Amino acid sequence: MLPFAVRKFLYYGYQRVRTRMLGCVFCRIAAREANATILYEDDHCVAFEDAHPQAPVHFLVIPRKHIISLNAELADEEPLLGHLLQVAARIAKEKGIDRTGFRAVINTNAEAGQTVFHLHVHILGGRIMRWPPG
Ligand code: 5GP
Ligand code: ZN
Repeated sequence: MLPFAVRKFLYYGYQRVRTRMLGCVFCRIAAREANATILYEDDHCVAFEDAHPQAPVHFLVIPRKHIISLNAELADEEPLLGHLLQVAARIAKEKGIDRTGFRAVINTNAEAGQTVFHLHVHILGGRIMRWPPG
């Protein structure tokens, strides 16, 4: 097996080329150019089921605007960021995981495991979560 640093370098290189060639997959989902199970949408955000769920409930909430990550310039985006969380919590409630509990995750950059460079909030629930996360 190749060392982790080499695998990481290859993986993120692949992701960059893929995004350049195909465009951003989450922008395409928001524009309905790529398929996803949409749970909710409005003028500012879209929520959809994760294609590779890591828990019985696993969905994503994204801004329609292409913001790369929490590292972006977000001074003007405070209402949008709050909106993403509010929508996420509302859907979690609709899915019945508000009382048992759920986790909101925003992976930012390589070492946190970000693979799609369009800001997204993961909501995971329906099972017991461990702490600290791996
Ligand atoms: P990240 O690793 O960037 O925090 O999370 C990206 C998430 O997007 C992953 O959980 C992955 O399963 C999900 N994902 C990647 N591509 C697609 C796609 O085309 N459709 C859907 N529905 N989810 C995707
Ligand atoms: Zn995008």
